[in-house]
Amino acid sequence: MLTVIEGGAVATVDAARSEHADGHVVCDGERIVAVGPGPAPAGLLARADRRIDARGCLVTPGLVNCHHHLYQFAFRGLAQEATLFEWLVALYPAWAHIDAGVVDATARAGLAALAVSGCTTTTDHHYIFPRDGGDLLGVEIEAARAIGLRFHPCRGAMDLGERDGGLPPDHVVEDRDAILTAYDDAIDRFHDPQPGAMLRIALAPTSPFSVTTELLRETAQLARRRGVRLHTHLAETVEEEAFCLEQFGARPLDYLDGVGWLGDDVWMAHCVHLDEPDIARMAQTGTGVAHCPSSNARLGAGIAPVRALLDAGAPVGLGVDGAASWEAGELAAEMTMALLVARAAGGPHALTVRHVLEVATHHGARCLGRDDELGHLSVGALADVAIWRLADDPGYAGIADPVAALVLGPARPVDTLLVHGRVVVEGRELRTADPVTLARDLAAASARMAELAP
Ligand SMILES: [Zn+2]
Repeated sequence: MLTVIEGGAVATVDAARSEHADGHVVCDGERIVAVGPGPAPAGLLARADRRIDARGCLVTPGLVNCHHHLYQFAFRGLAQEATLFEWLVALYPAWAHIDAGVVDATARAGLAALAVSGCTTTTDHHYIFPRDGGDLLGVEIEAARAIGLRFHPCRGAMDLGERDGGLPPDHVVEDRDAILTAYDDAIDRFHDPQPGAMLRIALAPTSPFSVTTELLRETAQLARRRGVRLHTHLAETVEEEAFCLEQFGARPLDYLDGVGWLGDDVWMAHCVHLDEPDIARMAQTGTGVAHCPSSNARLGAGIAPVRALLDAGAPVGLGVDGAASWEAGELAAEMTMALLVARAAGGPHALTVRHVLEVATHHGARCLGRDDELGHLSVGALADVAIWRLADDPGYAGIADPVAALVLGPARPVDTLLVHGRVVVEGRELRTADPVTLARDLAAASARMAELAP
């Protein structure tokens, strides 16, 4: 399938950050074969199976979501005025009831929300595995195949329950040996290390306050032995810092450094409470950050030092985080929020619209170890493309800079989304699932969880 996109503005986010006011992108199957100004080369046009008229549109790389908990779509609107620790203590007992049906409904709804908001690649950090809950990782992977997104799910884990000084109740944590076995099993069943992969596994103990030091150390060793990436939450709140100082005698970043957790194969969610030496260490080690400004704002956790991290050279991707801490779960809106909170704290030069587009695309791909073939529109890159309709929508019409229109204008569904060269969204509508069915199944799952909540 040869797809020619032409007539629109193109922001490539390539190495030279090339932009074309009127350009083309041509995809042959799952790869991009031409990008540039003006019309597509005549030889390619003659062979086109599909032509997309992008006049009045902005064409960008598909957005990359670096942090999520899809199952939380069944727990929205709860604990609305809580700090992170209050929110977790309120929700852990409810989360303990999830099963394959809940994970299926929430994953499909959450992945659909990502797709219509321009996301082509997402991770998910799943860390609740109730006994007899079913094959939850397998269920969400099947959902991602059905919706059509490129997927980097994390096999999450918690092994530090209340009785051992952790935050989660004892009945939602797992045994460490069982977790290590589950890691290997997830990699054996699902991980695709090949170029162009639609699915890669990462390993992700949940947070310093819900896992043991031994699990952190052994997870890092196993991940490096198996060649997969590492993910966790870090420095989200001031309470986490106090917890780490009391339990481990170290601040969160020092603690993780001590167990082998800094490196260019690691990315961590939040990183709100980093000081200047921490920021330098993240950059020197190539450790990535998943910036989740809406979730951080909803939980009142603070604002991550994104500009300082970028200036130091650290990869900083965007994340919507779980829908229990930001109900919308839509990625394009997170670009707007990243810019606004950075400027609210740091003034009008804190971040530009092009910084946030880079964060949402190229940097996100770096966090997931995929920047060789994702996060930019370049010849040889994967055909993950977002087309945003701007000129004929009064919400954006007349905004001279299309990247500013995308970041500062209204949050509308993406017009067309290609993942691996395949159409997932077209005419602002999801083509791979019926939104009415998704909503009905999500409402039923949420109601069932509400009934079971303590
Ligand atoms: Zn999270």
